[in-house]
Amino acid sequence: MDKKILTRSLRYHYKKSSTKTPSTVLSEAMPKIPVAVVVKNTNERRDPYEVARRRMITEQLLPRGIKDERVIAAMGRVKRHEFVTSGMENQAYLDRPLQIGFGQTISQPLIVALMTEELKLSGNERVLEIGTGSGYQAAVLAEIVEHVFSIERIPDLSERAAVAINAAGYRNVTLKIGDGSLGWKEKAPFDRIIVTAGAPCVPDALKEQLSNGGFLVIPVGDEEIQNLNIIRKDGDVFQKRIATACRFVRLVGQQGWSEK
Ligand code: SAM
Repeated sequence: MDKKILTRSLRYHYKKSSTKTPSTVLSEAMPKIPVAVVVKNTNERRDPYEVARRRMITEQLLPRGIKDERVIAAMGRVKRHEFVTSGMENQAYLDRPLQIGFGQTISQPLIVALMTEELKLSGNERVLEIGTGSGYQAAVLAEIVEHVFSIERIPDLSERAAVAINAAGYRNVTLKIGDGSLGWKEKAPFDRIIVTAGAPCVPDALKEQLSNGGFLVIPVGDEEIQNLNIIRKDGDVFQKRIATACRFVRLVGQQGWSEK
């Protein structure tokens, strides 16, 4: 990556939002990604996936307002190409969702970053994810928090995600096959809950299993289009904010959509 282009892009992003210089922000946000492209000799070039991952950050995430340095660093580290369907690795860092089989998708990088940022993580949380899918979102969370619990209703997807998560070396992720619209009562309460499928309404079970002061991030709407709801639990009060419109596959379950 050309350092000038990178710096220009960061300057564009940070000029209004931070007093830090672009290069300071970059080194804090992506400590494990060197700025300079070092080519030792003509046969030894940079990993093309690492280059693509860095471009994903500088061209998709930063210009669209992703600011949380933990999230940016995590997405710089997780090898998204190891979570997509075999044969689609070269599309892994494109600015769009990809099919992962069974009519399901791995979400667009930007929506993963946005939802993770909206969880307002500090690092010591226990997080419940509904909709393991490829396992990519769980891996991004595992980079940041203490423990991730993730539920997937399609057994083959859960098993495939388990292989990818183990191969990537994450030991703080526990997967379960089942109906995530009911949450995971035995492991509750959770500091944060993220639902990566679109629900007709917020499942009561998830509200109950959220810790006091915790955040629940969930797309709610009809089967075509939803609003990304950010819900904060304050005792018996649930405060709601809408972050953006979005489009997810359906949350199918007892407190979601019925199976067609
Ligand atoms: N987070 C995933 C990732 O990083 O690849 C993407 C999830 S995909 C957009 C939504 C997933 O939710 C699908 O894999 C789908 O099977 C799953 N799902 C739908 N309803 C569910 C339910 N009630 N419980 C658990 N998983 C569910």
